[in-house]
Amino acid sequence: AVRVRFAPSPTGFLHLGGLRTALYNYIFAKKHQGSFILRLEDTDQSRLVPGAAENIEDMLEWAGIPPDESPRRGGPAGPYQQSQRLALYAQATEALLKTGAAYPCFCSPQRLELLKKEALRSHQTPRYDNRCRNLSQEQVAQKLAKDPKPAIRFRLEEEAPAFQDLVYGWSRHEVASVEGDPVILKSDGFPTYHLACVVDDHHMGISHVLRGSEWLVSTSKHLLLYQALGWRPPHFAHLPLLLNRDGSKLSKRQGDIFLEHFAAAGFLPEALLDIITNCGSGFAENQMGRTLPELIAQFDLTRITCHSALLDLEKLPEFNRLHLRRLVSSESQRHHLVGQLQALVEEAFGTRLQDRDVLDPAYVERIILLRQGHICRLQDLVSPAYSYLWTRPAVGRAQLGAISEKVDVIAERLLRLLEKSGVSLTQDVLNGELKKLSEGLEGTKHSNVMKLLRVALSGQLQGPPVAEMMVSLGPTEVRERIQKVLS
Ligand code: GLU
Repeated sequence: AVRVRFAPSPTGFLHLGGLRTALYNYIFAKKHQGSFILRLEDTDQSRLVPGAAENIEDMLEWAGIPPDESPRRGGPAGPYQQSQRLALYAQATEALLKTGAAYPCFCSPQRLELLKKEALRSHQTPRYDNRCRNLSQEQVAQKLAKDPKPAIRFRLEEEAPAFQDLVYGWSRHEVASVEGDPVILKSDGFPTYHLACVVDDHHMGISHVLRGSEWLVSTSKHLLLYQALGWRPPHFAHLPLLLNRDGSKLSKRQGDIFLEHFAAAGFLPEALLDIITNCGSGFAENQMGRTLPELIAQFDLTRITCHSALLDLEKLPEFNRLHLRRLVSSESQRHHLVGQLQALVEEAFGTRLQDRDVLDPAYVERIILLRQGHICRLQDLVSPAYSYLWTRPAVGRAQLGAISEKVDVIAERLLRLLEKSGVSLTQDVLNGELKKLSEGLEGTKHSNVMKLLRVALSGQLQGPPVAEMMVSLGPTEVRERIQKVLS
């Protein structure tokens, strides 16, 4: 069975890069009726960020790609936090010590620091010189008496096995000569990434490891660990990087890339999933507007290329507009949006809301239906440009007089238009009626009449067509606002 995992460290909140890794794992799992597991790699206790673990799980749920097994949900392979699995790492380390594949290292932090400094001074990659590799049994016993909790290192074989990465093809990386033998268990009993990752992927029954390409080189090390432990390794597929459009790193400093930010700004998770898969590979073609089920249906791991994915966030509003329209077209989703917009309106206008019931679901829904093609986010409907929908504008007589001298005539004609029986307030009918309304007004053009009415109804010079404004507000409210002009 397919079992994949997303294994972030809770050293920060979930951002777009993490979302992308999680998403590909999710899609792959669902494509193969497999399980998607969230594992928190929290072994570096000094770097933990409060709230990050909760945020990661919250945001996966918000994005619509919840894990099947996770710290919160539990599952058969738990616990799902590495800090709660220390016994398993100790067990594996024990096994490696027994066969001599691992050894205790008594080098002092000072010595290691010195090695590092020397290497950096001569512009070389710091490398542990494997000094403790060949201590005799007596030497080890002696040192253990003084230092009973040494770090444990893994003896890297010179010859790393080659492996076929499902994205990058045949790979093999010389790891032994580069960094020296890595620490797998620290003196405090916590594992380092490599050991914890291998032990967990094994015990959790992970079938495929889909992770960022920055881990491609480490895979050789992991395979050596699998070999030494006598375990069968999973398949590996490394995902190319997600970069900014200009090829620069998707850094956390450049604007906000945290999911929380997008959620608060009113972007739809569907739009984020869409833009993130659109800029990458894995599909026969890239097309905007795909939903998660469509992504799952169309995904093909063999189509992932090793090219970086270039993300153009300026296109996000457009993606959002598309997905918003799709949601509006579904009755049940629209119902949801109505609730959301009601909450947004209350939040934005609160006590300034006018008496008439602007939170009436039928009214809110009408606004959404009329404006959906013109807005990118639901939030846009509570921006100042649309405040007239929720509060009455303060419009001065002088302001209208400056547009046309015929304020009264125009207002009275509009009131009569509203009274005229048989005029239903559809935009088409209204457009015709408004044309007639401007006829015979000497010195005032139709466009000025519309300008005047727009200001009278909304307090704004720009906005939707007057006929649409009238349909949105409804006849009663239009009458009220026009009567105010006359009083
Ligand atoms: N904890 C690693 C990270 O934060 C996981 C790497 C992996 O998936 O093996 O990216």
